[in-house]
Amino acid sequence: MQWETVIGLEVHVQLSTQSKIFSGSSTAFGAEANTQADAVDLAMPGTLPVANQQAFLSAIMFGLAVDAEIEKRSVFERKNYFYPDLPKGYQTTQLEKPIVGPGHIDISTEEEGKSKRVRIHHAHLEEDAGKSLHEDFHGMSGIDLNRAGTPLIEIVSEPDMSTASEAIEFLKKVHAIVTYLGISDGDMSQGSLRCDANVSIRPVGQQELGTRTEIKNLNSFRFIEKAIHVEVQRQIELIEDGGTVTQETRLYDADKNETRSMRSKEEANDYRYFPCPDLLPVIVEQQTIDNLRAAMPELPEQKNQRFQDAFGLSAYDASILTESRNVADYFEATSEHCKDAKLAANWVMGELSGYLNKNDLNIEDSPVDPTQLAELISRIKDNTISGKIAKQVFEAMCNKEGSADQIIEAKGLKQVSDSGAIEAMVDKVIADSPDQVAQYQAADPDKRKKLIGYFVGQIMKASKGQANPGQVNQVLAKKLN
Ligand code: ADP
Ligand code: MG
Repeated sequence: MQWETVIGLEVHVQLSTQSKIFSGSSTAFGAEANTQADAVDLAMPGTLPVANQQAFLSAIMFGLAVDAEIEKRSVFERKNYFYPDLPKGYQTTQLEKPIVGPGHIDISTEEEGKSKRVRIHHAHLEEDAGKSLHEDFHGMSGIDLNRAGTPLIEIVSEPDMSTASEAIEFLKKVHAIVTYLGISDGDMSQGSLRCDANVSIRPVGQQELGTRTEIKNLNSFRFIEKAIHVEVQRQIELIEDGGTVTQETRLYDADKNETRSMRSKEEANDYRYFPCPDLLPVIVEQQTIDNLRAAMPELPEQKNQRFQDAFGLSAYDASILTESRNVADYFEATSEHCKDAKLAANWVMGELSGYLNKNDLNIEDSPVDPTQLAELISRIKDNTISGKIAKQVFEAMCNKEGSADQIIEAKGLKQVSDSGAIEAMVDKVIADSPDQVAQYQAADPDKRKKLIGYFVGQIMKASKGQANPGQVNQVLAKKLN
């Protein structure tokens, strides 16, 4: 049987507001446990929540970025359940009237140049819970309530994705949108963006959806991909062995690379949702929406198109460079300084990101800034050094040995473009290689193109890579033909 995978995502994004969604406590990450939760976060009797306006503005900006309807009257509800990290006994969230209605995000697919539309069912505002800590407590659990009340938007997609890589593409798009908008730091390692993956399978061609499971709390692209893969495999094996999938919540265990049942799926009415009597419905005026729309920054999609139109970049290069706003800004600054977008793109995607990956650095922490990289690129353009030598210079720049010019000077890396010197090198290699010369001269023009590589290689070796390759080729062709 041929199976098709169906995936719908629920993405939680922590908003980077100064204070919590219903209280004045700080949302800063990394403070000592239980120093950032106040009486409101704990729902002490007699306290009243006050909705954070910035959280609404952030959610509306997200809605506008995904072409969604903004709900002019949204309502908070209480979702009741018991958990040690939820001292209120309920989570304040939105159910019937979320702030952001249906929208969509277009993702790129494996087929070059083709995109796919993933519909967004809605996005709602809610508060985060605290954290249970299971280490260092000798058979007990610790509770840290600093995160309780941190504002989240939960983005719920329709089940429109059919591979793990489409799910990753969708998440990358969400990540790019929220960071371009500046409404979240998007830091997955700190839990600022995490997702639940709903996964089901069905025979290819069948319209009706299969029974899904929900894998909770995935917080890295790699885990999401692996979790979906093993869950799909598990469901296929189960069904092919004559079993059925139970609708349930599952947990991904990265060490064992397997998903495990956590609890059977609860229905909305298990939570006894009801409108929160302490919070009024939030009314958003058209003027607020219009003002936010007018102030929207350039979004990934628009930047991507502009990079193709204005700089002549390929769709592929543009999509890589616009995945993160910081990378896009870095590229643009470099390109502006060296006046060569293609070279700037190659260096940012090639040498620079290679270096950053290897050293586990973000581009904001790059040891080489855009002006410095542009200076290096300019030295390739004006033939001071070859692209190959430039890599050597770049490495030295990363080690803080100086600017491109200083390093080229100090290490004597200037390209040899002196025609006399190059002719002498060519003469020498021709004299030293009578067999190769004879072979070359006996060959047809097509073959000659290949054979000339030998001579170029010898000269580059002799000059330690510093001979101007264009000139070497020219002189060689002249002397050999
Ligand atoms: P609930 O509110 O009970 O979690 P929803 O129907 O709102 O359920 O769906 C939650 C998520 O599950 C959505 O992202 C949706 O796209 C996805 N989903 C629903 N049905 C399926 C299915 N059969 N296969 C995969 N994903 C699904
Ligand atoms: Mg759900």
